[in-house]
Amino acid sequence: MNWKCELVMDLAPLYYDGVASRVSKRLVKKHLRECPQCRTYYKKYHPVDKVPTEVPNWDVARKVRKRRLVLWGGFLSYLSTTIVALVFWYAREQKKMKKI
Ligand SMILES: [Zn+2]
Repeated sequence: MNWKCELVMDLAPLYYDGVASRVSKRLVKKHLRECPQCRTYYKKYHPVDKVPTEVPNWDVARKVRKRRLVLWGGFLSYLSTTIVALVFWYAREQKKMKKI
């Protein structure tokens, strides 16, 4: 097994699950077509019925990312509001202290 075969076998699970990058997918696909040894290995460990042609569901990934962004936004605005409130409170306390 040369380094290309080893690399392709490392990428094979990602390719099979449809989460490999476009470049990796192309590389694995091309190599599996050309190399009978890797093709045999791939077929042995990855059932043929699930053909890795489908693209991962980017809509779900996008929704998750958006939701995460909203959560972070909410958290950061809460944090900044709290900090501003604390600064004002501290400034007011300082003024009170000076008056005494
Ligand atoms: Zn190979």
